[in-house]
Amino acid sequence: MQFDQEIFSLIQKEFDRQQHGLELIASENFTSEQVMRAMGNVMTNKYAEGYPGKRYYGGCEVVDQSEDLAIQRAKKIFNVEFANVQPHSGAQANAAVMLAVLKPGDKILGLDLSMGGHLTHGSPVNFSGKLYQPFFYGVKKEDGLVDYDHMEEVALRERPKLIICGASAYSRDWDYARVRAIADQVNALVLCDMAHPAGLIAKGLLRSPFEHCHFVTSTTHKTLRGPRGGIILMKQDFENPFGLLNPKGEVRMMSDLINLAVFPGTQGGPLEHVIAAKAVAFFEILQDDFMVYAKQIIANAKAMEKAFTSRDYDIVSGGTDNHLLLIDLRNKGISGKKAENTLVKADITINKNMVPYDDKSPFITSGIRVGVSALTTRGLKEQHMEQIVDWIDTVIRDTDNQSNILSVKNDINQFMKGFPLYPGWKI
Ligand SMILES: *Cc1c(COP(=O)(O)O)cnc(C)c1O
Repeated sequence: MQFDQEIFSLIQKEFDRQQHGLELIASENFTSEQVMRAMGNVMTNKYAEGYPGKRYYGGCEVVDQSEDLAIQRAKKIFNVEFANVQPHSGAQANAAVMLAVLKPGDKILGLDLSMGGHLTHGSPVNFSGKLYQPFFYGVKKEDGLVDYDHMEEVALRERPKLIICGASAYSRDWDYARVRAIADQVNALVLCDMAHPAGLIAKGLLRSPFEHCHFVTSTTHKTLRGPRGGIILMKQDFENPFGLLNPKGEVRMMSDLINLAVFPGTQGGPLEHVIAAKAVAFFEILQDDFMVYAKQIIANAKAMEKAFTSRDYDIVSGGTDNHLLLIDLRNKGISGKKAENTLVKADITINKNMVPYDDKSPFITSGIRVGVSALTTRGLKEQHMEQIVDWIDTVIRDTDNQSNILSVKNDINQFMKGFPLYPGWKI
């Protein structure tokens, strides 16, 4: 067989890019080498529709054990009764929960996308906004914090079947007890989508959603630092309160409905190689090292908050409790798009982001989102955050100064040599 020079040279280029630059995209991270090894191997060859012990294909004895390990470890990390590790992504995990508990046209209530929510929480361009009837709550204009009174007002008016909390661009912790109290008034179920802060929740550094939320979904590749994928968790299994029937007419336990909604509801065969890699990531999260990592994330985010604040950057919601910051650039006279496009020239990768009550479109935006989980994996500490913010500020203050940008880029490339990524790794 001929070697695919084209693709492997692109993989090498991507490796170089990741090594040399400052990765500040809040949803990204660097997995360990053993997580990557678990992902790229013979497990990709196996079809395993169904669940461990109940498959539609023969030869699943081994992948059954590996999927079981992933499930057991996920349950142990979060101290929960139920885990489904098959969703191919965070979006798939949310799709499955919604398929399990909603009928087309049912009302859902989530955080507005333009205020930090996610596409899968009811956006009109997403299945969640097309199949279901979406309503939104926001954050308060004065302090940028989630407006639980607004959530309650819309919930009482619309009586949604499902209330979704969790966000993609929100730097503060959540009041899950309040969300549940609101949901209980209208008999809604609660889904917490902890895709971003899951790694911090895993180590008890943020409030736990599990006592209050019927379902918790997450990606596995953000702060959990695993392979690209999703999971669905429940603290406790319970009987489906809507009396929804499965196709055979039996009332099911929620765990059965969730499993059926993943497969065959929204997916075919699970990615057993990715599930093996999820198991490896969960193994790592259970070690003490991960606590050191999670605490360092918070220390770095706080150091970054301080450095931005001292340079008069306007941080949405006044600061951070987690791994990310949302920065409103309007007082700096530059759009999110311009900032993103200029920073990338200096090998600083961030993303433009809408800020609450933004007057610019999602393609331009007034803000940027920065996260420290990836750089914390590289080994950067609090003192480096000051330097990074200085580089960002230098570029943003003078976006037309090419020699300035080039000199920042050179400094960054030199600096990152001190934090090798996958030393000795060969593709
Ligand atoms: C990232 C994210 C997702 C989607 O994850 P994918 O794996 O990209 O599908 C879902 N919800 C939230 C809140 C997210 O931040």
